[in-house]
Amino acid sequence: MERKDLIILGAGLSGLSTALHHGGDYLVLEREERPGGLTRTEDIDGFLFNHTGHWLHLRDPRIQALVEDLLPGGMVTVERRAAIYSNGVFTLYPFQANLHGLPRDVLRECLQGAVAAAVQRASRKDAAPRNFLEYTHRHFGDGIARHFIVPYNTKLWGVSPAEVTAEWTQRFVPIPDVAQIIDGALGMSREAMGYNASFLYPAQGGIETLARAMYGRLDAARVRMNTRPDQLSTEGRWVSFGGDRLAYGALVSTLALPDLVELTIDAPDAVREASLKLRCSPLRYVNVALDVPAPLNGNHWIYVPEARYPFYRVGSASNAIPGLAPPGQSSLYVELANDHVASQAEVVASLASFLKEIGSIEHERQIRFAAFREHPWGYVIFDRHCAEARATILDYFASRGVLSIGRYGGWTYNSMEDAILDGLRAAESLARPA
Ligand SMILES: Cc1cc2nc3c(=O)[nH]c(=O)nc-3n(C[C@H](O)[C@H](O)[C@H](O)COP(=O)(O)OP(=O)(O)OC[C@H]3O[C@@H](n4cnc5c(N)ncnc54)[C@H](O)[C@@H]3O)c2cc1C
Repeated sequence: MERKDLIILGAGLSGLSTALHHGGDYLVLEREERPGGLTRTEDIDGFLFNHTGHWLHLRDPRIQALVEDLLPGGMVTVERRAAIYSNGVFTLYPFQANLHGLPRDVLRECLQGAVAAAVQRASRKDAAPRNFLEYTHRHFGDGIARHFIVPYNTKLWGVSPAEVTAEWTQRFVPIPDVAQIIDGALGMSREAMGYNASFLYPAQGGIETLARAMYGRLDAARVRMNTRPDQLSTEGRWVSFGGDRLAYGALVSTLALPDLVELTIDAPDAVREASLKLRCSPLRYVNVALDVPAPLNGNHWIYVPEARYPFYRVGSASNAIPGLAPPGQSSLYVELANDHVASQAEVVASLASFLKEIGSIEHERQIRFAAFREHPWGYVIFDRHCAEARATILDYFASRGVLSIGRYGGWTYNSMEDAILDGLRAAESLARPA
């Protein structure tokens, strides 16, 4: 049987990064016709679409240096323009720190709730919140929970925040103190809060430009496209595909964890049972082209928490990078709610009325096309079974010399930078003597 030192499953950012940082005798197996995974860019009639947003936020100096090396001068920095549309008005993102502009009764409810929550936090030493719903009420108060955080996240996950643990929130949900909430309510918010106040994006070609640059540094003969493994034996240390069987020294998988378990012929029952407990909301979205130049009041994305709309976020990549749409036109990505699955006709009608309501279009005819897309893996649902089930599976694979990494391989909520870092760390750990 032919043998490779390293087999990498999947050529998304984490698989590409593993190969890039490992070098040596590796082979990447990718089921699609080109690399990039979730960061591939789709061209429809000259409109370039990503799998919804895909703005690059870099914190790690090694990844900053890598991106600069891969695309010297090829990235533009964009100051985030994000808003929330609720109660018929726009407010700035993040909602909790920018209540200014909300109707008076909503504002009062949010402020009273925030103050009551702060008093309660100061006067009582409560046990840690049991779930994300409790966490939200405790940190932001009932009004902010009711008007934004709970409905928005319910649409995104398709399940109540009461089913979700609070563990993932620290990095992604900015927590202002009461003084900041009051400043924000008075329109005196001083700083852009949150993890993504500005971002990078390739000047040309959509976000796929980054994956292409990484792929360009690899030996193309070591990356096999249109190849989907059909069996993996962790005992025999081989992978089979299309009648071939290939032995490996080490294996890095970036496949979604349940898919890796299914592929593994010798996975024990405990691992198969754990895999059945993993839950993830699908990614359902619409790529839309408009015959108007700058929709969404110029925002890059808008959060839409209210249940009356079958989408939770609408973004415009061309508002950030005009070259992503033909001159005089623009693009939208519309991320569809998972708690209520609306028909395509309902979505288009609702989107048209939303765009008219906010003044982005005058007629439905200005929507040139709406292309619906679906991807099985979107957002991991961190319910009470998740951490244990994930650990059971990852520990099993690690004990068999298989590293499962990346957003769905690591079964986590991560960014493009995290995926690249995962690959770098996997390559580093393989280089260390056992
Ligand atoms: C809706 C959404 C928006 C996002 N927005 C941002 C953002 O704005 N900024 C940011 O930094 N990050 C964002 N991310 C996160 C980012 O997309 C991921 O962190 C990153 O792309 C994950 O890379 P990966 O290689 O781990 O996974 P993937 O991109 O999923 O790569 C896995 C690869 O494996 C291949 N594969 C799967 N199954 C098989 C199989 N059986 N055989 C062979 N190959 C297989 C796939 O085709 C794919 O190429 C977003 C994610 C989502 C879902």
